[in-house]
Amino acid sequence: MKPVAYVRVASVGEAAAVHAGRPEARYLGGGTNLVDLMKLGVERPDVLIDITRLPLDRIEEPGDGTLRIGATVRNSDLAAHPVVRERYPVLSQAVLSGASDQLRNVATTAGNLLQRTRCTYFQDLSRPCNKRVPGSGCAAIEGVNRDHAVLGHSPHCVATHPSDLAVALSALDAVVELVGPAGPRTVPVTEFQRLPKDRPDVDTLIRPGELITGLVLPALPGGAASRYRKTRDRASFAFALASVAAVVHLERGTVRHIAVAFGGLAHRPWRARQTEAALLGTTPSAATITQAVEAELAAAVPLRHNAYKVTLARDLAHEVLGSLTARS
Ligand code: SF4
Repeated sequence: MKPVAYVRVASVGEAAAVHAGRPEARYLGGGTNLVDLMKLGVERPDVLIDITRLPLDRIEEPGDGTLRIGATVRNSDLAAHPVVRERYPVLSQAVLSGASDQLRNVATTAGNLLQRTRCTYFQDLSRPCNKRVPGSGCAAIEGVNRDHAVLGHSPHCVATHPSDLAVALSALDAVVELVGPAGPRTVPVTEFQRLPKDRPDVDTLIRPGELITGLVLPALPGGAASRYRKTRDRASFAFALASVAAVVHLERGTVRHIAVAFGGLAHRPWRARQTEAALLGTTPSAATITQAVEAELAAAVPLRHNAYKVTLARDLAHEVLGSLTARS
């Protein structure tokens, strides 16, 4: 058994100071993923830095039309917040479609974004996994890969990202706020999470010792509508087989703003840039939506057991975009 130190910190500066020079340190928010991985032996931190007492648990309107969500805002509070429900329903719907009430009451916004893949081989220490042990191989490529990626995967990893919230944040063009040894910085959420390439052990652009302090949602055009839909193996408490988050703003039937992101298909939420480009500035019909979605999914390379995901994603996107563009 490996001893683990526990430190509760009172400021972001103190958190950074405790983390400095300790690559095995981990920040502890809700712990709903980290503690599970510790029990499995996948994560083996030497110190847990409890950040739940930091003043990062607020949702604020700075007054410029944006919304700032603190890193430790609980998922339940985020989904229930009146401004989120009114202006960013896609985010509320995505959060409520994930996990259970009990987990959402504990899990934090930043933790949700940083959660790790649920690839069963990643969680099984007896199997090769490049994400857990770089260079060891990938058991999923020739194994049971029904839940794995169809877009953006590599010969090194075919895992998917499990977060629903992250898919909505991608469609909303959220910005991640970080503080680290080199000071504060921001990263667009669409770039924050990586594709696996030849370094699947690196999930995000977060740097050693950096702490997410919050997320900023940009203002949406007035009248923009948004929606999240997800398919899964059972009606609740299951990860997405495929999901779609979309934001659409119409002006007299013409698409003036569109953002579409798929979940469950790739190592990170997959922004459907081809779909967006095909529909922006048009008056969409069922036929043009079909073409636009096909243009995106043409890049899919299914594995042995997951070609069904392409069909699911196509049908979900068609339904969501059809409903959002039917509004006048
Ligand atoms: Fe590991 Fe990725 Fe392969 Fe899963 S898909 S076994 S996480 S390398």
